[in-house]
Amino acid sequence: PAKRAFSRKFMKQVVNASGEPMNIVFVSAEVSPWSKTGGLGDVVGSLPIELAKRGHKVMSIAPRYDQYRGAWDTSTTSNILGEEVRYFHEIKDGVDRVFVDNALFLAKVWGKTGSKLYGKKSGADFNDNQKRFAMLAAAAFECQTALPFGYGEDVVFVANDWHSALVPVLLKTKYQANGQFMNAKAALCVHNIAFQGRFWAKDGVLAELGVPEAAHEAFQFTDGCPTVYSEETPAEEEKPVKSTKTFEKNNWLKAGILYADKNLTVSPNYAEEMASGADKGVELDEVINSVGGFEGIVNGMDPTEWNPSKDKFLDVPYDEETVIEGKAAAKAALQAEVGLPIDPTVPLFGYIGRLEEQKGVDIMLEAIKEISVDAQVVVLGTGKKKFETSIKALEEISPNAVGVAKFSSPLAHMINAGADFLLVPSRFEPCGLIQLHAMQYGTVPVVASTGGLVDTVVEGLTGFQVGAMDPDDLCPEDVDALVETCKRACEIFPTDKYVTMVKNCIGQDLSWKEPAKKWEGVLEEMMHPSE
Ligand code: ADP
Repeated sequence: PAKRAFSRKFMKQVVNASGEPMNIVFVSAEVSPWSKTGGLGDVVGSLPIELAKRGHKVMSIAPRYDQYRGAWDTSTTSNILGEEVRYFHEIKDGVDRVFVDNALFLAKVWGKTGSKLYGKKSGADFNDNQKRFAMLAAAAFECQTALPFGYGEDVVFVANDWHSALVPVLLKTKYQANGQFMNAKAALCVHNIAFQGRFWAKDGVLAELGVPEAAHEAFQFTDGCPTVYSEETPAEEEKPVKSTKTFEKNNWLKAGILYADKNLTVSPNYAEEMASGADKGVELDEVINSVGGFEGIVNGMDPTEWNPSKDKFLDVPYDEETVIEGKAAAKAALQAEVGLPIDPTVPLFGYIGRLEEQKGVDIMLEAIKEISVDAQVVVLGTGKKKFETSIKALEEISPNAVGVAKFSSPLAHMINAGADFLLVPSRFEPCGLIQLHAMQYGTVPVVASTGGLVDTVVEGLTGFQVGAMDPDDLCPEDVDALVETCKRACEIFPTDKYVTMVKNCIGQDLSWKEPAKKWEGVLEEMMHPSE
C-alpha cells in the first residue's frame, strides 16, 4: 500500500488535472536550437520540454533547414502538393522533434541558418514561402499517421504565427470535412502580430496550396499597401508610405485566427493591446475581437542557458545568496572587457538586442547623451546599419558610453550579470525575454510600458516603468521620459532599496514551470471542455 500511495502521489505530479495525458503537436517555422530568429524559436524549443515533463506526449514539427546532427532519416515519406516530403526525427529531452525534409527548405537555407529562414535577406521573403509553409502545415497532419511513432488522429495542435496558420484551416475544412482528425483541436499562438503572411489574392492560388474552397473567404483582406514582402519588393528599411488606394490580399494569420479553436499570445497585456485598435492589432483588431479576443500566457525562459550560478562566461558564478558580490565581480569584468573605467560606484546601464525601431534604439541613442553624463552605458546589438554605425560612435559622445555591433553570446551574458540596470525601451514587445534574463541575474530592468514588459516588470519592486513610447516617431517626450526614469534608477543606486530590488529580481522563478501549467490548462480545456 505504501508503494501505491507513492506512485499515486507521483502520478499527480506528472499528469494534468483530468489525469489524461494529451498528445500535443507544436507546428512551427523555427525551433531552437535547430533554427531560430527570435522568441518564436525559443518558445517552441523549451515549452514542449516542460509539457513533456508533466506527462504528455509532445512533438514539434519544423522544417529541416540544415543537416541536423542527431536527427535521423525515418525513411517515411508523404506526397504533399505534388512533392515527396521526408521526415527526420530525434527524441531530445523527452520531446519528439520531427523535421520536414524537402528541397524547398534545405536547398534554400542550407548552411548557417541565422535569420535567413524566410528569405535571403531579412525582409526579402522567398517568393515560394506560401508553398513552403503550406507544405509544413499539411505535413503536420500526414506524419501523424505515416510515421510508425506518429500520434494518430487524437491530437491537439499548437500552430505558431502565420507560417503554420494553415493548420487550423486545414483541420476544419479539409481533414474534419473528410471525417479525419475528428477529435483533434487546433490552437494558434501569435508571437508577433506584425507578421501576418499577406500575399496577393491571385486567382487559384489558395486552391494550388491545397486550401479547400470553403476556407477561401476567411483569407480575404484589404490593405493600403501596394506591395507584399517578396524577393523583388523586400520590407523597406523605412516605414512604407501608405497608398490611398486599396489592395486585395490573402491574409494567412486572419484565416488561422478564424478557424482556431483557441487563440493565444505571449502575454496578457499584449493580448489586450492587440484587441485595442488597428494600430496595435496591425489591422487585425476587429478579427481578434470577433473571436472573443486572445488569451495571454507570459513566456518562460530557459534556465539552462541563463543561470548565474552555472554561467561559463562568469569568473565568479553567483546565486541569490551571493548576488551582491557576484554582480560586483561581473561588473568589473564587464567594464574591463568593453574598455569602460573600472569603477564600482558609477551606475552601469546595459542594452542587448536587435537594433531596430521596434526596440526603441533611436530613442535610447538620444537619451544616452544625457544618461552617460553620470552613468556608464554599454550597448550590444546588430541590425540596421545606421544604428550599428551610431552605437560604434558612442565613445565620441562620452567616455562613459560604448557600443559593440556584434552578435556575441559571451558579452550578452556578461552584460546581464555585470550591468546594474538593463534598458528595454521597446515601442512594442509581445513578451520580451531579455528583461527575464536580466532579472534572473539580479539586474534591474528599466522598461517601456508595453506588451509583456508591463506583465513581467513591477515598478519599484523588480524594475522601473518608463511609460509607453510613440509607436512611429522619435518624440522628445519619450527621450525625456527615458532619461528621467534612468535618473530615478541612479538615485537609488546603491542603496538598500536597490539591493532589495536586486534580490526581488533574482528570487523569482522565471522558468517555464508556471507558464507550462497554464498552457496545459488551456489545452486541456480545449480537449475536454469543463461543462
Ligand atoms: P526578440 O525575440 O524580439 O529579438 P527577445 O528579448 O525576446 O527579443 O530575445 C532576444 C534574444 O536575443 C535574447 O536572448 C538576447 O540575449 C539575444 N540577443 C539579441 N541581440 C544579441 C547580440 N547582439 N548578441 C548576443 N545576443 C543577442
